[in-house]
Amino acid sequence: MKTTIISIGDELLTGQTLNTNLTYLAKRLYPLGIQVENAAMIRDDKAAIFDALQNTKSDLVIFTGGLGPTQDDLTKESICAYYHLSLVERPEVLERISSYFKRMKREMKPTNKKQAYFPKSAVVLDNHNGTAPGMLVEVEGKTIVLLPGPPSELQPMVETMISHLKNYLDVPLVQRGYRLIGIGESDLEAEMQDFYLQYPKVNIAPYASVGEVVFIFTAKDEALLKPALRAFKKRFDRYIVGPHDESLESVVVHTLMDLKKVISLVESCSGGMLASRIVNVPDASKVFKESYVLYDNHSKIKHLGINHHIIEKFGAVSEQCVYELAYQLAQRTAADITVSISGIAGPSGGSEEKPVGTVYFGLHTEGKTQTDYKIFSGDRQMVRQKATSYALYLVLKALMHDEN
Ligand code: AMP
Ligand code: MG
Repeated sequence: MKTTIISIGDELLTGQTLNTNLTYLAKRLYPLGIQVENAAMIRDDKAAIFDALQNTKSDLVIFTGGLGPTQDDLTKESICAYYHLSLVERPEVLERISSYFKRMKREMKPTNKKQAYFPKSAVVLDNHNGTAPGMLVEVEGKTIVLLPGPPSELQPMVETMISHLKNYLDVPLVQRGYRLIGIGESDLEAEMQDFYLQYPKVNIAPYASVGEVVFIFTAKDEALLKPALRAFKKRFDRYIVGPHDESLESVVVHTLMDLKKVISLVESCSGGMLASRIVNVPDASKVFKESYVLYDNHSKIKHLGINHHIIEKFGAVSEQCVYELAYQLAQRTAADITVSISGIAGPSGGSEEKPVGTVYFGLHTEGKTQTDYKIFSGDRQMVRQKATSYALYLVLKALMHDEN
């Protein structure tokens, strides 16, 4: 299916905003067999929108941005004017917008009313994270989709759009996959070459993010998908941490819940990022006790009684220090598992023996303390992100071990 994505917004053309909606959409559609042939960025301008519609030969045209309540947001009005579709108020949509304002304890402005107007033939795509609903309409042999600009609003709505597209179009239906950690994308690719040839009817798409790789398998039906998934799981089992659509922290929190275990953390270079990722998961309070951010050496000594000789002799970024941090925390908390992280996030502070990116991990559970270390590539943020992913992976491995 020929597809075009048109991103609308003056801010995209002044360089103020990076067009991440395009990459997000293209990535999400590709495994469904919907390849984006064309993409454009245009101003919030009726003539520019008319031009874009006149020039597109695609069957599916997805617009993003310009669905706000103000005068300068004119995507929906312009597209409907182009196709001579009249806009009518949808009371149920107006009700949803007004309840959004109530929930956010904000006053709904009269200008928001226009966000409840849609053509009769359009399917309205609800927006749970903002006021601008999207829409999907079949017109003149094309499918036109409108999505709002803010990525936090657009991303969940892409899923709704996909489920509607499946009703309209002949796109593959079954999609599943895995999330992997502890192996790089290029190593995985090298090991995957024969695999792609073995399953030509399954679209296998890898997506690498910081410290994690997701593989999404898409096929027409279960029967095609199952053997490929089974073979993949067999080959990469030691790296698989869960399904593709569940975050690593969510898998960890749910595994802790299943095992009725509680975790506490002590973080140095990650500065609370590990705690933050865990707290992102709903119901984290059932399994998460506390996280100490002990950044400074004296704080490590003061709050967890780390022997200053350890820090003087081996340094705070050392196997000995993370061992003590995890062990000492375990003595002071009722948690079943404690984790410590200490590393050099950079850009300075590295040495020949411990280059930037070196991170040590301590983990205490069932009366035993173990340590591990890794050298991560990337800038400060990436090292910290990768370190927290790896710590979650270590927790999962320890829990799996307990489970078996
Ligand atoms: P909207 O009101 O729907 O036009 O979008 C409002 C905000 O969404 C803008 O101020 C941007 O910060 C963001 N935004 C719009 N388009 C994009 C895009 N293509 N990629 C990323 N962010 C965007
Ligand atoms: Mg805008």
